Amino acid sequence: MSALAGVGVGRGIAAAKVLRMPEPLAPPSDEPLAAAPDAEHARVQEALQHVADELNARAAAAGGEAQQVLEAAALMAQDPAILDDVRSRLEGGANAERATWDAYAAFREMLTAMGGYMGERATDLDDVAQRVVARLRGVPAPGVPVSDEPFILVARDLAPADTATLDLERTLALVTQEGGPTSHTAILARSKSLPAVVGVVGLLDAAADGQRAIVDARAGTVELDPDDASVDAALAEREARLAAASAPITEGALADGTKVPLLANVGSPKDAAAAVAAGAEGVGLFRTEFLFLDASAAPSVEQQTASYTELLQAFPGKKVVARVLDAGADKPLSFLNDAHEENPALGLRGIRALRANEAILRDQLTALANADAATEAELWVMAPMIADVEEAEYFVALGRELGLKVVGAMAEVPSIAVVADQVVEACDFVSIGTNDLTQYTLAADRQLGSVAALQDPWHPAVLRLVKMLGDAGARAGTPVGVCGEAAADPALAVVLVGLGVTTLSMSASAIADVRAELLTVTLDEARARAERVLAARSAAEARQLAAAVSAG
Ligand code: PEP
Ligand code: MG
Repeated sequence: MSALAGVGVGRGIAAAKVLRMPEPLAPPSDEPLAAAPDAEHARVQEALQHVADELNARAAAAGGEAQQVLEAAALMAQDPAILDDVRSRLEGGANAERATWDAYAAFREMLTAMGGYMGERATDLDDVAQRVVARLRGVPAPGVPVSDEPFILVARDLAPADTATLDLERTLALVTQEGGPTSHTAILARSKSLPAVVGVVGLLDAAADGQRAIVDARAGTVELDPDDASVDAALAEREARLAAASAPITEGALADGTKVPLLANVGSPKDAAAAVAAGAEGVGLFRTEFLFLDASAAPSVEQQTASYTELLQAFPGKKVVARVLDAGADKPLSFLNDAHEENPALGLRGIRALRANEAILRDQLTALANADAATEAELWVMAPMIADVEEAEYFVALGRELGLKVVGAMAEVPSIAVVADQVVEACDFVSIGTNDLTQYTLAADRQLGSVAALQDPWHPAVLRLVKMLGDAGARAGTPVGVCGEAAADPALAVVLVGLGVTTLSMSASAIADVRAELLTVTLDEARARAERVLAARSAAEARQLAAAVSAG
């Protein structure tokens, strides 16, 4: 029996056999063709047909968005132009694998050059090419494996296309050697409530197909070859955790009854139903810019009023925190960000872009005030990327002038925590965006895989800034919430509450797990845990300290 450690996602636990995601195939050799071109051509034709049939069968079983992705891939496998190209390469002396590989590579290049939608499909061709060559070679096809039995998927990392085709009925847990808390694997695991452990060093050397394993996301561990008693204990624990996660929907609270409202992050009125179903006590972050990512001109007041009213109507009597347009960096809006910038994350984004285009900001605040007046929801409005009290005062004054009742600031730029005492006096509330706060505190681009390890909200530097904000809020009586991904991590949610955070907002799918975890600690225990974690020397140590306290 051996245990490996990584970063746990969620609080689930699973015990099952390991199924490994096959590694990508090595490129074919350049050895010249030894057989007759006609016979080889027939072999390639059979392989293409086999792959297309297999993809179509999986498409029919998958349904939804995955069905479209797989059907498109099946069509690519059957494209007659590919077969023609393979024939001419065989006639030129290439072996069957090489001819197929190169034909797909040429097709890929052509699609990439076309750009746009076709360009985006180019990477799907790699998957098809790998499947065809695997068939010719007589080895298992790469990509997400298929099984009749439930399994734990072990992979180097998962790409978005893999996650679209994963059989969620049978996948009990995900374990990857690479990736951090914001990787595709972690996002998928969170959205489907699957236990996952990512960033497990040495995983691929240790875990083999068919081996039994226990994945404990709360502890961030993967135990290989556990004995029967450990498996039985894990299965019992799984039942207990699933029961807790599907427990009756109650208001967010700690074991001693301290209330911690659990709110949902939404990007459009379409997300409201899932939030309500998950028992969200309102909306803690409405990312309004998501409505206008494709717009070439600023939306009108009427258009915005209609969208905001639609969302607010879903939450009568409840709080809805709308964020004004956060344009720039990873979310450019063509009507707000037109200048070329070398470092857009450090450029005219968030409140800076709005201030430079005040008419657009005024229109949005007017539309929000209209929607507030037309509905029963309790609307709060906040601005992204507020750096200091001067920016906070500017935004609060403008919001009040345009009829908004509760106006606040997002804490995403580290400077705001340093001057938190000033900012909490100027605002009605503060909401901490831990995604950007982490990115800027650790100077680690949130989109860049190579610095993913630094993009970790468990880092004590980030947690100390949260504490500065929490303390300042408590002194001034100003609520301080968290609406970044950190709130969706149940163990971290406890620490955040211990640091003085009063509400947590997250994707709707994370609410049940966070609710269950909060019920396991009192406020004193959460504070004690936060105290220990603040002394950690790294994000990994902070996690370990929190896990050790919760286990003991
Ligand atoms: C954040 O930065 O934590 C946040 C909630 O905003 P976004 O992820 O939309 O930048
Ligand atoms: Mg942000």
